[in-house]
Amino acid sequence: MRCTGCARVIEQPELKENFRCVECGDLYEVVYPSWSAGSQAEIRKPNASAMRWLWKERCGSNAEADQSGVWRFREMLHVLRDESNIVTLREGNTPLYQLRKVAESTGIEQLFAKHQGMNPTGSFKDAGMTTALSVAHELGFDWVACASTGNTSAAMAAYAARAGMRSLVLIPEGKIAWGKLSQAMDYGALTLQLRTDFDGCVRVLTEVVKRAPVYLLNSVNPYRLEGQKTPALEIAEAFDWEVPDHLIVPGGNLANSSALGKAFLEMKHLGLTTQLPKISVIQAEKANPLFRSMQESCGKTLEPVEATTRATAIRIGNPASWKKAVRVIQQTGGYCEQVGEAEIALAKAEIGAEGIGCEPASAVTLAGLKKLVQQGKVQSGERVVLLLTGHTLKDSDYTIAYHRGDLLKPEEIGELRPEIEVTRRNAVELDASVDLVLRELERAAGQ
Ligand SMILES: *Cc1c(COP(=O)(O)O)cnc(C)c1O
Ligand SMILES: [Zn+2]
Repeated sequence: MRCTGCARVIEQPELKENFRCVECGDLYEVVYPSWSAGSQAEIRKPNASAMRWLWKERCGSNAEADQSGVWRFREMLHVLRDESNIVTLREGNTPLYQLRKVAESTGIEQLFAKHQGMNPTGSFKDAGMTTALSVAHELGFDWVACASTGNTSAAMAAYAARAGMRSLVLIPEGKIAWGKLSQAMDYGALTLQLRTDFDGCVRVLTEVVKRAPVYLLNSVNPYRLEGQKTPALEIAEAFDWEVPDHLIVPGGNLANSSALGKAFLEMKHLGLTTQLPKISVIQAEKANPLFRSMQESCGKTLEPVEATTRATAIRIGNPASWKKAVRVIQQTGGYCEQVGEAEIALAKAEIGAEGIGCEPASAVTLAGLKKLVQQGKVQSGERVVLLLTGHTLKDSDYTIAYHRGDLLKPEEIGELRPEIEVTRRNAVELDASVDLVLRELERAAGQ
């Protein structure tokens, strides 16, 4: 473990340190010294072509760990001493869809969506949860805990239940989508809704883990980021180890963008790939601390904001991993953009109309891409991948409100009105009459 601030190296962070460096307070990251040239260390530097072959080969195996899209890449994530401690729900191996209609409307011919919402609990959080929770299991903890905007708690509760462990969830009252809350309950978590926002839940939990023997599974836990690297490996593998030109990711607490960046840097270092994709991070306008930081100080300082957006998964004003994300944006030549509530809603409807769907926070990627295209920062010939982070059923209230026309205030819609009207598909209530149904069918066919 190396501190990302002062580069101090330690074996295993102590719990009371809360995964923050005692010297400088910064976050740790997992590093593999043996991957440097000339190292004699125990974990050998993986051989690129042998690894590519082995990872593919494991897809046909019946072993639990091999069937996981995270653990089949285990040479890239040495987080356990003993592989029998792996807790898996067969996460990962998510689909990469080509977006043909949206490609036309954005002018990007080769546009893809890596759908992390197709994970066992419906979000990308599973990829990081399987690694960090397996570590907690190996360390012998009975309790795990997280503060969450919803998806982390759903993932943690599920994996804890699989391992026979107990889980404590702190969520902001009234600011979490029902789908996610219902999962935490279903998987048996002790679920506490605190009268505060996400950032307030983090403050409370930071104190709780100092006083009680519970293992912290927020994304300050560097083992989560190791698992969250694997979608990047899957993307590279899907393109025969030629990375896309641009990867676009939503930004909340900024762990995901950090993990994906780490993966692409490591892949290049190991000779698995020869290029880096640009990695761009998109935030909601009213939950935009990173966007502001990049504008005002080139990412040198970050002022926390009071976050409000209907995309609850990215409603975060004081992101833990912001320094890591800044490095990834700068090292890959990517951008940070912000998008408004109506832009997010429209983008979500467009992704839905491709038969794919996603939760609101994921749709910022498409809304952000449109902005980057307008600004000339993405060219039509580039191969672009949008990272869709959550499943559309996570927040069906949002979707229904959009299609009924109840979601957005007129002043939020502004010039987007015509585009939004085209995408709205409200359910029509009718008497049970064949003629009425045929009339609706005719009307729709004529549109
Ligand atoms: C957690 C989450 C995000 C934000 O990811 P960070 O790593 O916190 O930046 C975005 N979308 C969904 C659906 C999420 O669950
Ligand atoms: Zn430090």
